[in-house]
Amino acid sequence: MQAKLIDGKALAAQVKAEAAAETAALKKQGITPCLAVILVGEDPASQVYVRGKARDCGECGIESRVIRLPESTTQQELLALVGQLAADRAVNGILVQLPLPGHIDEKAVIDAIPPEKDVDGFSPVNVGRMQVGEPCYLPCTPAGCVRMIESTGVDIDGKHAVVIGRSNIVGKPAAILLLEKNATVTICHSHTKNLQEICRSADILVAAVGRQGFVTGDMVKPGAVVIDVGINRGPDGKLHGDVDFDAAVDKAAYITPVPGGVGPMTRAMLMKNTVQAAARQNGLA
Ligand code: NAD
Repeated sequence: MQAKLIDGKALAAQVKAEAAAETAALKKQGITPCLAVILVGEDPASQVYVRGKARDCGECGIESRVIRLPESTTQQELLALVGQLAADRAVNGILVQLPLPGHIDEKAVIDAIPPEKDVDGFSPVNVGRMQVGEPCYLPCTPAGCVRMIESTGVDIDGKHAVVIGRSNIVGKPAAILLLEKNATVTICHSHTKNLQEICRSADILVAAVGRQGFVTGDMVKPGAVVIDVGINRGPDGKLHGDVDFDAAVDKAAYITPVPGGVGPMTRAMLMKNTVQAAARQNGLA
């Protein structure tokens, strides 16, 4: 069986079109959603991501404010800027591009973003709200993964979902969101025994490890939905996921490509969160 591709670019375009329509409706009420993105230093990958976010905002009619700071910025200066944006009523979402330079405490900076403007969904308050199923901003990558699974028409309810990886930004929240959808969830990580066997029993397999080719074809259950979160620069200089795509594509029913899978969806979900933030801050949601 040849798996059907879950086209992240096409689905992201659909999600961004939704965000654009919601933005247009807000603008009719005099509200222009605004996302502030702070970039500290010259990390080339971060520069690309930030440019992409500004472009996405433009496509959706969202105002973007990109604030570029030198590598030498102190933690105090960065915290002062976050404080200013937190107090600015015209700014609905604040995103600090990670990683930050080593001399800055990332946790202190994320904690300084008020939960109502934390459109990345990384702050402990949003994480806690997600855990108890209260309204919050869902972290963009896991929320994008769930949307991709749902786009297949496969019912998540009652399925065995296996998430490989337990990071705070991908693995753990992906597991929580799948649990919310009534999947039976297993989280695998670097200390897991019998990982291959567990993966082989997955109806839904989410790989967020950060190792090219980690998920081999024999780890994929025939007919599974495979979501590849990994982004790895291979020896060939190209981007690869965590899944051995060529092998898995013959086993899975649905699979995401890398690139063109989870990445574009992550960006699109950020637009949705920003529009939602603007609506909530104006008492409309
Ligand atoms: P991370 O390094 O924080 O976490 C990796 C996880 O993999 C850890 O929890 C670890 O326990 C697990 N792991 C490592 N070795 C393992 C092993 N041998 N067996 C089982 N588990 C193992 O990484 P992250 O931030 O969660 O990101 C994971 C991958 O997803 C990376 O490639 C990253 O670039 C990518 N990513 C993609 C997007 C996107 O938008 N597509 C967003 C975020 C992260």
